[in-house]
Amino acid sequence: MSEGKFLHELVGSMSQGAAGNPTVAMIEAAFAHHGLHWRYINMEVTPEDLGTAVRGAKAMGFRGFNCSLPHKVTVIPHLDGLGESAAVMGAVNCVVRRGEKFIGENTDGKGFLKSLASLVDPKGKSVVLFGAGGAARAIAVELGLAGVKRITVVNRSEARGVELVALLRDKLKLDAELVVWRGDYTVPAGTDIVINGTSIGLYAPDARLAHDLNSLKPGMVVADVVFNPVRTRLLEDAAARGCRALDGLGMLVNQGIVGVQCWTGIEPDAVVMRQALEAAMGV
Ligand code: NDP
Repeated sequence: MSEGKFLHELVGSMSQGAAGNPTVAMIEAAFAHHGLHWRYINMEVTPEDLGTAVRGAKAMGFRGFNCSLPHKVTVIPHLDGLGESAAVMGAVNCVVRRGEKFIGENTDGKGFLKSLASLVDPKGKSVVLFGAGGAARAIAVELGLAGVKRITVVNRSEARGVELVALLRDKLKLDAELVVWRGDYTVPAGTDIVINGTSIGLYAPDARLAHDLNSLKPGMVVADVVFNPVRTRLLEDAAARGCRALDGLGMLVNQGIVGVQCWTGIEPDAVVMRQALEAAMGV
Protein backbone atom coordinates (compact mmCIF):
# COMPACT_ATOMS: atom_id res chain seq x y z
CA MET A 1 0.00 0.00 0.00
CA SER A 2 1.48 3.37 -0.92
CA GLU A 3 2.39 5.72 1.91
CA GLY A 4 -0.10 8.52 2.36
CA LYS A 5 -2.94 6.58 0.79
CA PHE A 6 -3.85 5.01 4.13
CA LEU A 7 -2.83 6.14 7.59
CA HIS A 8 -2.61 2.58 8.91
CA GLU A 9 -2.33 -0.99 7.76
CA LEU A 10 -5.27 -2.89 9.25
CA VAL A 11 -5.80 -6.31 10.73
CA GLY A 12 -8.75 -7.28 12.82
CA SER A 13 -10.61 -9.82 14.85
CA MET A 14 -14.00 -11.09 13.67
CA SER A 15 -16.00 -12.64 16.45
CA GLN A 16 -19.35 -12.52 18.14
CA GLY A 17 -19.69 -11.56 21.78
CA ALA A 18 -15.97 -11.08 22.45
CA ALA A 19 -16.04 -7.47 23.68
CA GLY A 20 -13.00 -6.68 25.80
CA ASN A 21 -10.84 -9.16 23.89
CA PRO A 22 -7.41 -8.89 25.63
CA THR A 23 -5.68 -9.98 22.42
CA VAL A 24 -6.24 -6.46 21.07
CA ALA A 25 -3.93 -4.97 23.73
CA MET A 26 -1.30 -7.65 23.07
CA ILE A 27 -1.20 -7.22 19.28
CA GLU A 28 -1.33 -3.42 19.41
CA ALA A 29 1.51 -3.42 21.97
CA ALA A 30 3.62 -5.35 19.45
CA PHE A 31 2.78 -2.89 16.65
CA ALA A 32 3.63 0.09 18.87
CA HIS A 33 6.84 -1.47 20.22
CA HIS A 34 8.14 -2.15 16.72
CA GLY A 35 7.09 1.27 15.38
CA LEU A 36 4.60 -0.24 12.93
CA HIS A 37 1.83 1.97 11.66
CA TRP A 38 -0.70 -0.80 12.04
CA ARG A 39 -3.98 -1.20 13.94
CA TYR A 40 -5.76 -4.32 15.23
CA ILE A 41 -9.49 -3.80 15.36
CA ASN A 42 -12.13 -5.83 17.18
CA MET A 43 -15.18 -6.36 14.96
CA GLU A 44 -18.49 -7.84 16.01
CA VAL A 45 -19.70 -9.96 13.06
CA THR A 46 -22.86 -12.08 13.03
CA PRO A 47 -22.85 -15.46 11.24
CA GLU A 48 -25.23 -14.04 8.60
CA ASP A 49 -22.85 -11.18 7.80
CA LEU A 50 -19.62 -13.19 7.77
CA GLY A 51 -19.23 -13.45 3.98
CA THR A 52 -19.97 -9.75 3.50
CA ALA A 53 -17.51 -8.88 6.29
CA VAL A 54 -14.71 -10.95 4.70
CA ARG A 55 -15.32 -9.37 1.29
CA GLY A 56 -15.41 -5.95 2.95
CA ALA A 57 -12.10 -6.54 4.74
CA LYS A 58 -10.54 -7.56 1.45
CA ALA A 59 -11.97 -4.55 -0.38
CA MET A 60 -10.69 -2.22 2.35
CA GLY A 61 -7.16 -3.58 2.10
CA PHE A 62 -7.03 -5.42 5.44
CA ARG A 63 -3.80 -7.44 5.79
CA GLY A 64 -5.74 -10.17 7.52
CA PHE A 65 -7.76 -10.93 10.63
CA ASN A 66 -8.26 -13.38 13.44
CA CYS A 67 -11.57 -15.13 13.69
CA SER A 68 -12.96 -16.87 16.70
CA LEU A 69 -16.20 -18.56 17.66
CA PRO A 70 -18.58 -19.01 15.92
CA HIS A 71 -16.67 -18.34 12.68
CA LYS A 72 -13.70 -20.75 12.72
CA VAL A 73 -15.24 -23.30 10.34
CA THR A 74 -17.86 -21.25 8.50
CA VAL A 75 -15.26 -18.69 7.34
CA ILE A 76 -13.57 -21.30 5.13
CA PRO A 77 -15.86 -21.04 2.05
CA HIS A 78 -15.22 -17.28 2.01
CA LEU A 79 -11.42 -17.67 1.72
CA ASP A 80 -9.13 -18.26 -1.27
CA GLY A 81 -7.12 -21.11 0.24
CA LEU A 82 -5.89 -22.81 3.41
CA GLY A 83 -2.50 -23.45 5.03
CA GLU A 84 -1.45 -27.05 5.72
CA SER A 85 -2.63 -27.48 9.30
CA ALA A 86 -5.83 -25.46 8.82
CA ALA A 87 -6.70 -27.75 5.90
CA VAL A 88 -6.15 -30.87 8.05
CA MET A 89 -8.12 -29.45 10.99
CA GLY A 90 -10.88 -27.87 8.94
CA ALA A 91 -10.73 -24.76 11.16
CA VAL A 92 -9.24 -21.29 10.72
CA ASN A 93 -8.47 -18.70 13.39
CA CYS A 94 -6.12 -16.45 11.43
CA VAL A 95 -6.49 -15.10 7.90
CA VAL A 96 -3.48 -13.70 6.06
CA ARG A 97 -3.45 -11.66 2.85
CA ARG A 98 -0.94 -13.10 0.41
CA GLY A 99 -1.03 -11.04 -2.76
CA GLU A 100 -4.70 -10.67 -3.56
CA LYS A 101 -5.64 -13.87 -1.74
CA PHE A 102 -6.99 -14.37 1.78
CA ILE A 103 -5.41 -17.59 3.10
CA GLY A 104 -6.73 -19.29 6.23
CA GLU A 105 -4.26 -20.50 8.86
CA ASN A 106 -4.66 -21.94 12.32
CA THR A 107 -2.34 -20.44 14.90
CA ASP A 108 -3.78 -22.11 18.03
CA GLY A 109 -1.74 -25.28 17.59
CA LYS A 110 1.27 -23.38 16.24
CA GLY A 111 1.18 -21.14 19.32
CA PHE A 112 1.08 -24.19 21.55
CA LEU A 113 4.05 -25.77 19.79
CA LYS A 114 6.07 -22.57 19.94
CA SER A 115 5.39 -22.40 23.67
CA LEU A 116 6.20 -26.11 24.10
CA ALA A 117 9.51 -25.62 22.28
CA SER A 118 10.77 -23.65 25.32
CA LEU A 119 10.76 -26.97 27.23
CA VAL A 120 10.90 -29.89 24.79
CA ASP A 121 11.06 -30.92 21.12
CA PRO A 122 7.91 -33.03 20.56
CA LYS A 123 9.51 -35.11 17.77
CA GLY A 124 9.45 -38.78 18.75
CA LYS A 125 7.61 -38.14 22.02
CA SER A 126 4.59 -39.91 23.53
CA VAL A 127 1.71 -37.58 24.36
CA VAL A 128 -1.44 -37.82 26.46
CA LEU A 129 -3.99 -35.21 25.41
CA PHE A 130 -7.12 -34.58 27.46
CA GLY A 131 -9.93 -33.21 25.28
CA ALA A 132 -11.05 -33.40 21.66
CA GLY A 133 -12.58 -29.95 21.11
CA GLY A 134 -11.23 -27.11 18.97
CA ALA A 135 -8.08 -26.40 21.01
CA ALA A 136 -7.19 -30.09 21.44
CA ARG A 137 -7.75 -30.72 17.75
CA ALA A 138 -5.45 -27.85 16.76
CA ILE A 139 -2.74 -29.04 19.15
CA ALA A 140 -3.01 -32.69 18.08
CA VAL A 141 -2.67 -31.83 14.38
CA GLU A 142 0.41 -29.63 14.93
CA LEU A 143 1.97 -32.29 17.16
CA GLY A 144 1.32 -34.82 14.41
CA LEU A 145 2.92 -32.57 11.80
CA ALA A 146 5.89 -32.08 14.17
CA GLY A 147 6.52 -35.84 14.29
CA VAL A 148 5.33 -37.06 17.70
CA LYS A 149 5.52 -40.82 18.17
CA ARG A 150 2.09 -41.43 19.68
CA ILE A 151 -0.95 -39.50 20.89
CA THR A 152 -3.47 -40.87 23.36
CA VAL A 153 -6.63 -38.77 23.28
CA VAL A 154 -8.60 -38.92 26.54
CA ASN A 155 -12.09 -37.49 26.10
CA ARG A 156 -15.42 -37.61 27.90
CA SER A 157 -17.56 -37.72 24.77
CA GLU A 158 -16.73 -40.80 22.72
CA ALA A 159 -18.07 -39.37 19.45
CA ARG A 160 -15.76 -36.32 19.51
CA GLY A 161 -12.81 -38.47 20.56
CA VAL A 162 -13.42 -40.98 17.76
CA GLU A 163 -13.59 -38.15 15.23
CA LEU A 164 -10.24 -36.67 16.33
CA VAL A 165 -8.43 -40.00 16.46
CA ALA A 166 -9.75 -40.90 12.99
CA LEU A 167 -8.49 -37.56 11.64
CA LEU A 168 -5.02 -38.15 13.15
CA ARG A 169 -4.83 -41.68 11.77
CA ASP A 170 -6.30 -41.02 8.34
CA LYS A 171 -4.81 -37.64 7.46
CA LEU A 172 -1.50 -37.76 9.34
CA LYS A 173 -0.92 -41.56 9.55
CA LEU A 174 -0.29 -41.09 13.24
CA ASP A 175 -0.24 -43.74 15.98
CA ALA A 176 -3.30 -42.42 17.82
CA GLU A 177 -5.75 -44.04 20.23
CA LEU A 178 -8.81 -42.97 22.18
CA VAL A 179 -9.50 -43.58 25.84
CA VAL A 180 -13.05 -42.65 26.79
CA TRP A 181 -12.68 -40.69 30.02
CA ARG A 182 -14.49 -42.32 32.93
CA GLY A 183 -13.19 -41.60 36.44
CA ASP A 184 -9.54 -40.98 37.23
CA TYR A 185 -7.24 -41.59 34.27
CA THR A 186 -3.82 -43.13 34.88
CA VAL A 187 -1.12 -41.57 32.70
CA PRO A 188 0.85 -44.49 31.22
CA ALA A 189 4.51 -44.91 32.18
CA GLY A 190 6.74 -43.66 29.37
CA THR A 191 4.55 -40.64 28.59
CA ASP A 192 6.67 -37.56 27.86
CA ILE A 193 4.05 -34.81 27.52
CA VAL A 194 0.63 -34.46 29.21
CA ILE A 195 -1.73 -31.75 27.96
CA ASN A 196 -5.01 -30.45 29.31
CA GLY A 197 -6.81 -29.43 26.10
CA THR A 198 -10.22 -29.17 27.83
CA SER A 199 -11.87 -26.14 29.39
CA ILE A 200 -11.68 -27.73 32.85
CA GLY A 201 -10.10 -25.16 35.18
CA LEU A 202 -11.11 -22.06 33.21
CA TYR A 203 -11.99 -19.39 35.80
CA ALA A 204 -12.04 -22.27 38.32
CA PRO A 205 -8.75 -22.48 40.22
CA ASP A 206 -9.92 -25.45 42.30
CA ALA A 207 -11.32 -27.51 39.40
CA ARG A 208 -9.62 -30.87 39.20
CA LEU A 209 -8.74 -32.82 36.06
CA ALA A 210 -9.76 -36.40 36.85
CA HIS A 211 -6.46 -38.28 36.82
CA ASP A 212 -4.25 -40.30 39.15
CA LEU A 213 -1.81 -37.74 40.46
CA ASN A 214 0.74 -40.45 41.25
CA SER A 215 0.96 -41.28 37.54
CA LEU A 216 2.54 -37.87 36.88
CA LYS A 217 6.30 -38.53 37.03
CA PRO A 218 9.21 -36.14 37.55
CA GLY A 219 10.53 -34.79 34.26
CA MET A 220 7.23 -35.10 32.37
CA VAL A 221 6.11 -31.90 30.67
CA VAL A 222 2.59 -31.00 31.81
CA ALA A 223 0.86 -28.26 29.81
CA ASP A 224 -2.50 -26.54 30.17
CA VAL A 225 -4.45 -24.65 27.50
CA VAL A 226 -6.38 -22.83 30.22
CA PHE A 227 -4.89 -19.36 30.68
CA ASN A 228 -7.09 -17.92 33.43
CA PRO A 229 -6.00 -18.65 36.12
CA VAL A 230 -2.46 -18.80 34.76
CA ARG A 231 -1.40 -21.40 37.38
CA THR A 232 -4.19 -23.96 37.20
CA ARG A 233 -4.60 -26.68 39.78
CA LEU A 234 -3.19 -29.18 37.27
CA LEU A 235 -0.01 -27.12 36.86
CA GLU A 236 0.38 -26.67 40.63
CA ASP A 237 -0.07 -30.42 41.20
CA ALA A 238 2.31 -31.27 38.36
CA ALA A 239 5.02 -28.90 39.60
CA ALA A 240 4.70 -30.40 43.09
CA ARG A 241 5.34 -33.84 41.53
CA GLY A 242 8.55 -32.63 39.84
CA CYS A 243 7.02 -32.18 36.37
CA ARG A 244 7.87 -29.25 34.12
CA ALA A 245 4.74 -27.08 33.92
CA LEU A 246 3.72 -24.99 30.91
CA ASP A 247 0.87 -22.46 31.22
CA GLY A 248 -1.82 -21.58 28.67
CA LEU A 249 -0.84 -17.93 28.60
CA GLY A 250 2.33 -18.91 26.72
CA MET A 251 0.17 -20.57 24.05
CA LEU A 252 -2.01 -17.46 23.77
CA VAL A 253 0.99 -15.13 23.49
CA ASN A 254 2.66 -17.38 20.93
CA GLN A 255 -0.42 -17.65 18.74
CA GLY A 256 -0.42 -13.84 18.76
CA ILE A 257 3.27 -13.87 17.82
CA VAL A 258 2.61 -16.25 14.93
CA GLY A 259 -0.24 -14.00 13.74
CA VAL A 260 1.93 -10.86 13.81
CA GLN A 261 4.70 -12.75 11.98
CA CYS A 262 2.24 -13.86 9.30
CA TRP A 263 0.74 -10.39 8.80
CA THR A 264 3.82 -8.17 9.08
CA GLY A 265 6.82 -10.45 8.44
CA ILE A 266 8.57 -9.28 11.63
CA GLU A 267 9.43 -11.40 14.71
CA PRO A 268 7.69 -9.48 17.50
CA ASP A 269 9.00 -9.14 21.05
CA ALA A 270 7.44 -11.91 23.16
CA VAL A 271 8.07 -10.19 26.50
CA VAL A 272 6.30 -6.99 25.40
CA MET A 273 3.33 -9.02 24.17
CA ARG A 274 3.05 -11.16 27.31
CA GLN A 275 3.24 -8.11 29.57
CA ALA A 276 0.50 -6.34 27.59
CA LEU A 277 -1.70 -9.44 27.70
CA GLU A 278 -1.19 -9.90 31.45
CA ALA A 279 -2.01 -6.23 32.06
CA ALA A 280 -5.17 -6.47 29.91
CA MET A 281 -6.26 -9.63 31.72
CA GLY A 282 -5.32 -8.30 35.14
CA VAL A 283 -3.23 -11.37 35.98
P1 NDP B 1 -14.50 -26.91 23.02
O1 NDP B 1 -15.85 -26.58 23.56
O2 NDP B 1 -14.32 -27.08 21.55
O3 NDP B 1 -13.97 -28.26 23.72
C1 NDP B 1 -14.06 -28.44 25.11
C2 NDP B 1 -13.35 -29.73 25.51
O4 NDP B 1 -13.37 -29.79 26.95
C3 NDP B 1 -14.05 -30.99 25.02
O5 NDP B 1 -13.09 -32.01 24.81
C4 NDP B 1 -14.94 -31.35 26.20
O6 NDP B 1 -15.27 -32.71 26.28
C5 NDP B 1 -14.03 -31.00 27.35
N1 NDP B 1 -14.74 -30.75 28.61
C6 NDP B 1 -15.36 -29.61 28.98
N2 NDP B 1 -15.87 -29.74 30.22
C7 NDP B 1 -15.58 -31.00 30.62
C8 NDP B 1 -15.82 -31.74 31.81
N3 NDP B 1 -16.49 -31.21 32.85
N4 NDP B 1 -15.35 -33.00 31.91
C9 NDP B 1 -14.66 -33.55 30.88
N5 NDP B 1 -14.39 -32.90 29.71
C10 NDP B 1 -14.85 -31.64 29.60
O7 NDP B 1 -13.54 -25.78 23.59
P2 NDP B 1 -12.12 -25.31 22.99
O8 NDP B 1 -11.37 -26.51 22.60
O9 NDP B 1 -12.33 -24.22 22.02
O10 NDP B 1 -11.45 -24.64 24.30
C11 NDP B 1 -10.96 -25.44 25.34
C12 NDP B 1 -10.15 -24.56 26.29
O11 NDP B 1 -8.99 -24.11 25.61
C13 NDP B 1 -10.89 -23.30 26.78
O12 NDP B 1 -10.63 -23.16 28.16
C14 NDP B 1 -10.21 -22.19 26.00
O13 NDP B 1 -10.21 -20.98 26.74
C15 NDP B 1 -8.81 -22.74 25.86
N6 NDP B 1 -8.06 -22.16 24.75
C16 NDP B 1 -6.84 -21.64 25.03
C17 NDP B 1 -6.08 -21.10 24.03
C18 NDP B 1 -4.76 -20.53 24.39
O14 NDP B 1 -4.16 -19.86 23.52
N7 NDP B 1 -4.23 -20.76 25.57
C19 NDP B 1 -6.55 -21.06 22.64
C20 NDP B 1 -7.82 -21.69 22.43
C21 NDP B 1 -8.56 -22.21 23.47
P3 NDP B 1 -16.55 -33.29 25.46
O15 NDP B 1 -16.11 -33.53 24.05
O16 NDP B 1 -16.86 -34.55 26.21
O17 NDP B 1 -17.64 -32.27 25.59
